[in-house]
Amino acid sequence: EPFIEKISILHEESIIIGFNLTKYMIRDIILNIPVSTYALITDSNIASIYLENLSNQFKNLASKLSLSKGNNTVPQRFISYAIPPGEQSKSSDTKADIEDFLLSQACTRDTCIIAFGGGVIRDLVGFVAATFMRGVPFVQVTTTLLAMVDSSIGGKTAVDTPHGKNLIGAFWQPKRIYIDIIYLESLPERQFINGMAEVIKTAAIWKESDFVILENKVASIRDAVLNPKKDIPFQGATLETRTPSQSLLLSVIRSSAEFKAYVVTHDEKESGLRGLLNLEAELARSLGHLNQVAIGRLVRCLESYGLPISLDDKNIRKFVGNRRCPVDKLMEIMKVDKKNIGDKKRIVILSGIGKTLEQKATFVADSAIRKVLSP
Ligand code: ADP
Repeated sequence: EPFIEKISILHEESIIIGFNLTKYMIRDIILNIPVSTYALITDSNIASIYLENLSNQFKNLASKLSLSKGNNTVPQRFISYAIPPGEQSKSSDTKADIEDFLLSQACTRDTCIIAFGGGVIRDLVGFVAATFMRGVPFVQVTTTLLAMVDSSIGGKTAVDTPHGKNLIGAFWQPKRIYIDIIYLESLPERQFINGMAEVIKTAAIWKESDFVILENKVASIRDAVLNPKKDIPFQGATLETRTPSQSLLLSVIRSSAEFKAYVVTHDEKESGLRGLLNLEAELARSLGHLNQVAIGRLVRCLESYGLPISLDDKNIRKFVGNRRCPVDKLMEIMKVDKKNIGDKKRIVILSGIGKTLEQKATFVADSAIRKVLSP
């Protein structure tokens, strides 16, 4: 038995977190979501690293388990489909491709869909599950740090449109969310940094003690993902291969996931609390709620994980063709945020590390936002 922890979300213990969970996960899925077809959908990057092994293990275990149940059980099949990686796949077209695949394989309502990947796969495949045959059970197996800790932990599914991101979608709760940090070992550095932004933000909003860990253990947390073989496994660890850095990483991820689960449980359909996930520290300072020391800590922490801290950052400049990212464009982008009410924007105002001004996002005037974004 691997070391696992369960986090409850919407009063069900459906988030399962740990290290090296594959066997446990397959058993859990087969025993607790008994269907005739398991359809795993992933992207081609992840498929090339993990699919063969996972598919073999699944088939082996399924046949063992059905043998042990006697021969009048329905045979269970495992099928899989890989889409191209990247945000462009989060589209109605790719959704239709997945649906055509499922239909061509004669999948019925008696299908469990397994979304195996990062945020793109989770949002897109979750939406397929929400609408296929008017809704079939689905399981999320997260493979990126961002997907492990971000707000979509709460059953938000969506595709993008040319008019904006995540504009078409549904709430559809997964039966299980697996957070197995072993997948982070193959994660590219850029994706790690991406996820760290979310981890740091969550700690800054919620828990100063976590923020202190992030400030003090930069090398260790980076190594857990980027150099996992560097650490020596510690004695007495539940799994021989789990290192001190990985344990630390696991605890940081657990904490972020717990926060998201709490927010979702108390605010499933995004009325107020979920707005907590929009943060702007400089704005808080300019409105007089946050002091310079706290800003300094945030800036140093973000920088130490390789994150940009201003629009002048060279990576951001590169992204916009070496021009300054225009403030008007940003205001335009913020305008289509679903969390806005009318043309008022809602932003979380920090009042200290681990504390926010309100238990929800605060309405802020456009002029105040413009002021902090402007050079
Ligand atoms: P996010 O969770 O940030 O929304 P995506 O679903 O867009 O992420 O995935 C980001 C990229 O990382 C994709 O190209 C994907 O194929 C790749 N990827 C995801 N998980 C892993 C992993 N565990 N190892 C290697 N590459 C991965």
